[in-house]
Amino acid sequence: MSSIRVNRLVVGPFAANCYIVNRESSKQCVIIDPGGDAARIKNTLADLRLQAEAVLLTHGHIDHLFALAAFSGNDAITVIAHEDEKVILAGVSLQSRMFGLEEMPAPEISRWVHDNDMIQIAEMSFRVIHTPGHSPGGCCFFTDAAIFVGDTLFDSSIGRTDLPGGNYDHLIHSIRKKLFILPDDTLVYPGHGEQTTIGREKKFNPFLRG
Ligand SMILES: [Zn+2]
Ligand SMILES: [Zn+2]
Repeated sequence: MSSIRVNRLVVGPFAANCYIVNRESSKQCVIIDPGGDAARIKNTLADLRLQAEAVLLTHGHIDHLFALAAFSGNDAITVIAHEDEKVILAGVSLQSRMFGLEEMPAPEISRWVHDNDMIQIAEMSFRVIHTPGHSPGGCCFFTDAAIFVGDTLFDSSIGRTDLPGGNYDHLIHSIRKKLFILPDDTLVYPGHGEQTTIGREKKFNPFLRG
């Protein structure tokens, strides 16, 4: 099988990473965290001649889904999030007001997933890894030696835990018990900033060393 291609766009007022992921042999793709700049995401899909089959949400913060409406509400695209994120997603309009953004209705999720679920989509399979801590239903999507971690883990940092439903101990536990058991060379694609690897974060991340 051909390998996976990852395109990163930095979108929205909070510079969130939106990833367009496809198998090289396929014209179908998934969008992970459409955080803003819908037109730019659409243009990139057109340039790459890709058709989105699903949107995967790592969590329900508005900086990761502000452009979701441009891709949801039709049968062609499945919108996927972890069930424990329902409360956060229900509060999206409050979040948009808080940040002075255009008010956004609560997103419609077409499929709720749980820890260890397999998502078979666009000729790829993603394993759901539930990693509460930054938010209660935060989750990571693992495929082909790559993992999309949202705001759980960053290059030399970790997600904030002072937002509603956040919990520092849960976050550290999630990273140590569910991410650091993956192979060291697993590529980590975070919700903000540059990519890293599991091995690098185990060694150098100041929040997790030792
Ligand atoms: Zn977040
Ligand atoms: Zn974020």
